[in-house]
Formats: sequence, C-alpha cells, structure tokens
Amino acid sequence: MVNNTAYKKIHNDGFLFDSHVDTVGAMLYRREGNRWAPPKGRRLQIDLPRLRQGNFGGLFFAAFVPPDDPQPTGRAMSILALTKKFAAEHPDDLALVTCGRELTAARRTGKIAVMHSLENGGYAIDGNLDLIDTFYALGVRCFGIVWNGSNALATGIGGKPTRSGLTRLGKQAIRLLNARGVILDISHINETGFRDVMSRIQAPVIASHSNVHALCPVPRNLKDDQIKAIATCGGVIGVNIYTGFLTQEKISTIAHVADHIEYIVALVGIDHVGIGTDFDGIDRLPEGLEHAGKMPALTRELVDRGFRKSDIRKILGQNHLRILREVIG
Ligand SMILES: [Zn+2]
Repeated sequence: MVNNTAYKKIHNDGFLFDSHVDTVGAMLYRREGNRWAPPKGRRLQIDLPRLRQGNFGGLFFAAFVPPDDPQPTGRAMSILALTKKFAAEHPDDLALVTCGRELTAARRTGKIAVMHSLENGGYAIDGNLDLIDTFYALGVRCFGIVWNGSNALATGIGGKPTRSGLTRLGKQAIRLLNARGVILDISHINETGFRDVMSRIQAPVIASHSNVHALCPVPRNLKDDQIKAIATCGGVIGVNIYTGFLTQEKISTIAHVADHIEYIVALVGIDHVGIGTDFDGIDRLPEGLEHAGKMPALTRELVDRGFRKSDIRKILGQNHLRILREVIG
C-alpha cells in the first residue's frame, strides 16, 4: 500500500487519454428527451471539473448513432457540432484537436484535447463512402465501424448470425479509412467481421471500449486471440469500466478494472492497453469509479499492484498517444 499522496503524483505526472466517452451524445439526447438519454437530474459522469480532477489530457467524444435513428448522418453531425461548441465555450480548458501533434501542443498549454470519433460509423455514413471524406473534414479521426446490430459495412455482436463479416462496402471502407489516416475502432464488431478487418488493415486498430472475455464472458468482450491480433498490429485496447463488461457479479470494484488491465498486460505486454471508460454511456459503474473525477483511484490500485510509473503512464495515455501519432500524425 502506497501512502496517500504518492499515487496522486504519479497520476498527475502524465495524463489520461480516454478512447471512448458518450458525454456529448448524452447532453444532446437529454435535451431531446430521447430514450438514449441518461436519467433525468443525474449529474453527468464527465464535466469540466471532473475532467480536471481526473487529470484527463485528451479524449474521444463519440458521436454515437443509435440504430433506430431515422437520420443517421444528421445525428452524427449534430453530436460533432455540439462537441465543437462545447470545446469552444471553454477555450481555457478545452481544445478541439485532430492529431497527436495538436494534442501535444494542447497539453503544453494545459488544455484537455477533445477529439471526434464515430460509433456505428457505417450507419453515420449511411452506406455512402463519399461521406468518409466529409466526416474527416469535420475532424473525425476514429471510426467505430458498427454497433451491436448491422449496418452497411458490418455486423455487430448482436446482429443476425446469418449476416456476418464485412460487406463489400465495408471492405472498401476499411481501405479508404486506412488511406485517410483515420483510426479504425473494432469495439462492437462480431468475430467474423473482426477477422475480416484484421486481414485487410494497413495500420494499427483500437478497441476503444472493450474488455477481456476470459474474465467476463459476454459477447462484447474480446477473446484472447483477438487481443493478440490487436497487439500484433500494434493496436491498443481501451478498457471499459461498465460493470456488465467487468464481471458477471452484480457489483464491480476498481480491482475488476485492474484485473482486465493486468490480464491484457500479461497476455501481450504493456504497450497494448489503455483506458476507454464509456462514461455517460453506462449506468453501472465500479465502486470508487463513479465518475471521471475518481480516476486517480485506478492509478492507486495499479501502484498497489506493483506497476511501475512508466507502465502506468503508458496505460493511462501514452499507448493511445502512440497510436494517434502513428495513424493520424
Ligand atoms: Zn459502445
């Protein structure tokens, strides 16, 4: 057990990069009274004070397009627009960035780097590959191919088993996204689609918010061979803190999050694990990690388990930063 301040110093020395948060979508859905909105009156798990308290240095705000949305492209664009507005309203704290270089520059001035990603991207482009360029121009640098169902590109883990793997359009999309320098995000895709993606990529991929199947055998989690494939391509798995993906028990703790991190490190080494909380997209959180401001408690757990400072920095942010630099620039 470390003393009460040592872990804080380690946590605050580097910074945290979160590869998946749903906060802006939650703001929009709440405004609309949409069924995807978080419960009324509950403070969001991420806001500016909590980001500072948790020493966030950067994050992907996901533009999640629900599968039942009648206007998927417009929906994604609305979330991107609101993300941009949110950053612009807090110019002293936030900076909208589109690459690793800009992220590093934002950090130098003490700002938190806000980045755009799509979740259910194949639905956001509504089967029109020309829109990949449009979303790129808007600043999207991470593309979640599919959500739990099916879209024009692929099928997710909850989709019909008869429809599996990348579609013809999906295969073209992988090529275009790689050529454009957009990070591919394989969270939610089914196993056949995963294999299809991995056999075609020209750059590392991420699983922006996925966990270890061996520790919690639910379809959303990654099997060992998938974790190894992601590591082999140089990719990163952002560990999700949703209780239902951490454990099959009713309640989760910070120890469960650390278990998933430790498992990935033991399987493929320290360079392929990061943080992808899913904040504001989830309702059951570990005890002690109920919101973004509590993230230093995870560092404390990692220190207690004997992780070195340099390893903790990689887990919290440096591994994701490496991918940003490598894939985007
Ligand atoms: Zn998701």
